[in-house]
Amino acid sequence: MNRTLLKKWFQALAPVGALPEGGVTRLAYSAEEDLMFRSTAGFARQIGLSVTEDCVGNMFLSFPGLEKEPCHIIGSHLDSVPGGGRFDGVAGVLAGLLVMENLRSLDESLPVRVAAFRAEESSLYGLATAGSGVIAGSVNIAHLKNARALSGESLYDAMIRKGYSPGACGLENALDFMELHIEQGRVLFEAKEPLGVVTAIAAPVRLKVTILGRQDHSGATPMDLRKDALCAASEIVLATEAAGHEEKRFATVATVGVANVVPNALNVVPGSVELRIDIRGIDKESIRRTVERVQRAIADIGASRGLSCATETLSSMDPVALAPSMIESLSEAASAAGVSFRRMASGAGHDAMKIAPLVPTGMLFIPCDEGVSHNAAENASLNDIALGAEIMLRSIRLRRSRPAAYPRSTPAGHGRRRLKPS
Ligand SMILES: [Zn+2]
Repeated sequence: MNRTLLKKWFQALAPVGALPEGGVTRLAYSAEEDLMFRSTAGFARQIGLSVTEDCVGNMFLSFPGLEKEPCHIIGSHLDSVPGGGRFDGVAGVLAGLLVMENLRSLDESLPVRVAAFRAEESSLYGLATAGSGVIAGSVNIAHLKNARALSGESLYDAMIRKGYSPGACGLENALDFMELHIEQGRVLFEAKEPLGVVTAIAAPVRLKVTILGRQDHSGATPMDLRKDALCAASEIVLATEAAGHEEKRFATVATVGVANVVPNALNVVPGSVELRIDIRGIDKESIRRTVERVQRAIADIGASRGLSCATETLSSMDPVALAPSMIESLSEAASAAGVSFRRMASGAGHDAMKIAPLVPTGMLFIPCDEGVSHNAAENASLNDIALGAEIMLRSIRLRRSRPAAYPRSTPAGHGRRRLKPS
C-alpha cells in the first residue's frame, strides 16, 4: 500500500474546515463537505478513476468501464461533527482509494469501487447516516423533510439547494460492502491491537422520562412533606446504571445522558425533571431485558415516592449483525497476514449498518489514541489505515478465490432485496 500517497491525501484534506483551536468542522451539505468531496474526487482522477454522483451527492469512484459492473464496494463518509477529528469517516474513504491505487499499480483487475457517503453525522440536521440511508431505502423523503437544522432548513431542502433530487437512487451493482473506521472507543488502544473485525453494530433504544413532583420552598418545606423530583430522578439514574451492569456480559450499556431540572434553582425543591436514557447493545433479548428493568425501576421509584413518572420511547432500533462471510474472510485475511486482531461489536452507528440489510457487509476497526473521537484531539495512525486497506484487499481475493467457503449471504433476518428508484 502506498503510504506516501496516503499521507499526501491526508495532508491535502487537513485544511478543509480546520479550526484555529484545532479540529475540523465539515457539516453535512456545507461548503466544507463539498470541498472534501471535490478534493477526494481529484485524488481519484489523479490515479485514473472515474467519478460519479448519485441523487443525494454520494460519490462513487470506479475503474473506467466498471461503473455499472457488479463491484466490491469500500466506503465511509467525509463529513464531521463540529470541532471533530480528521480520521472519522475519512480513514475509510481513503483506505478504499488506497486499495484501488494498489490494484492499479499491480495492474490487477479486480472489480472494486469506492463509495463516499454524504451526511453521516447527525450534528446539523439531527438525522444520522442520511446519505447511505437514502440509497438503502431506510431513509425516505418524509424523514429528510422532518430532519431540520436549527436554522429551520430541512435536510431535504439542503439536498435540493445543492442541486440534488433525493429519492431517485439506490445501491446498484454491489457484490458486497466493507467499511474501515476508527474504533471511537478504547478497546483496541488499550489492548495495543491494530485491527478489530466488527461482528455487529449496536442500536439504541431511547427513552424520555418525565418526573412530576412538587415545586416547594427549600427552606420552608420539611423533609417529610416533600415530593422532590430530582431525588426520584437520581434513583432512576442509579437504577439505569445497575440495569446496564446486570447485562454487561452481553455488551449492553445503559446511560442517562440528559437531566433537565425545573426550575434548577438553589432555593427550590425541584418540581419536575426530564431524563433521557440511551440503552444499546448487540443482543436483542438483552436490550429488551434492560429496557424492561429500567421501566420497572421507574414505576417502583415513582410509586414509593408518590410521584408521577411518565416514560415515552423516543426511538427503538434493532442491532445489525454483519455477514458471516465478511467476518470470516476479513479474519482469515488478517490471520494470513500475521496481524493480531479481535472480533468486536461496534457501539457507535455507521454507514455499514445501513448497507448491511442489502448486501453482505463487513467492517474493520483501527485504534484511535485513547479512544478519543468526535474531538479535536482525535488521532489515529496512517500505517493502521494502510494495514486495514491491505486486509480488505486480501479478503476480497479470498472471497473471489473460494466462493464456496464464503457464500454471499446477508445475516439471518435480512432478506436481500432489489432496490428500485423510489
Ligand atoms: Zn464516522
